[in-house]
Amino acid sequence: MPAKLESVIAPSRDESGVPKSLPKTQRVAIATSHGAGVELKSDHPVPTPGPNDVLVHIIRTGVCHTDLHALDGDWEVKSKLPVIAGHEGAGVVVKVGENVDFLQEGDRVGVKWLQSTCGQCEFCLDGKETVCSNQQRTGFSCDGTFQEYAVASAAHVIPIPEGLSNDQAAPILCAGVTVYKGLKETEVKPGQWVVVSGAGGGLGHLAVQYARAMGMRVIAIDHPSKESFCSKLKAEAFVPFTLKPDELTQKIKSITNGGAHGALLAVASPEPYATALTYLRSWGTLVTLGLPKRGSQIPVDIFDTVMRRLTVRGSIVGDRKDAREAMEFAARGDVKVEVEVVGWENLKEVLGKMKEGKLQGRVVLDTSK
Ligand SMILES: [Zn+2]
Ligand SMILES: [Zn+2]
Repeated sequence: MPAKLESVIAPSRDESGVPKSLPKTQRVAIATSHGAGVELKSDHPVPTPGPNDVLVHIIRTGVCHTDLHALDGDWEVKSKLPVIAGHEGAGVVVKVGENVDFLQEGDRVGVKWLQSTCGQCEFCLDGKETVCSNQQRTGFSCDGTFQEYAVASAAHVIPIPEGLSNDQAAPILCAGVTVYKGLKETEVKPGQWVVVSGAGGGLGHLAVQYARAMGMRVIAIDHPSKESFCSKLKAEAFVPFTLKPDELTQKIKSITNGGAHGALLAVASPEPYATALTYLRSWGTLVTLGLPKRGSQIPVDIFDTVMRRLTVRGSIVGDRKDAREAMEFAARGDVKVEVEVVGWENLKEVLGKMKEGKLQGRVVLDTSK
């Protein structure tokens, strides 16, 4: 409850917002059962980092759609309970585990969805840690960043480059790295065409910018009301999704002189995927980032897929290298997140709006005051 939170006396802080002494208790947004939402508490114990962990004072945390699923428990795999959600945390290391010699107190780091991986399975050994079956997920299988102090696996925190604000860094830790990796997975080369569906949305507006910075030519698909926003992002062409599927395909084929080399989709309904397969060029790749309900199908014409050598590929967040690279793009100013920063007390309202699909861009919580 906001009133209760406001009544907490804030500890004295240095100029970067870090308290001068580590408190014993902290503010958190915690869920004790699925579907009941979060409770804002101000007397939750500050956790102790293990030997291979760091304790991060979270200054900003993004709010991601996956947090809703963690809190609602509407996936087959459910989050632990009670759970502190959140996996886009930007902050400062305030305590270092005894085995950690590569991070120091005061380092700015990001805490992301992939909290830790086993490092020993066939996928980890092969550089494919995003599908490690022994992974821990931040704000899901372990507590996340909707708290002032989060324990994080030292090997997996991402350094935040100097000059990049916490407001901008936080959303890169999930939204940014997810679209950046997805674009890599399209295998579209510089000078070739990629279609970003939902280009004006939270993920899409980042995808347009990453694609441009990676040298791709971008066609943005979204509602007509998003056209000017997409052209501001420097998408080379805009196609409204209100067109009939065959018109949309014709339009893209004509812009690209034969079809797009890749498409990045993060939508929940099956139709746009079916259409994407018709506007891809031969040898093209459709990458899917969306997480619609389990059992949702992509209608794939097998004959066409064989004859035109199409690829349909899933992509899930990114590994540590992807996350560092995604962060560097933002630090260089090639990617700018459309971000709204709000206080703790607004979290419930933010989650409600997100559920109704009423959020614009990314919302970031200021957890420092
Ligand atoms: Zn996320
Ligand atoms: Zn593994």
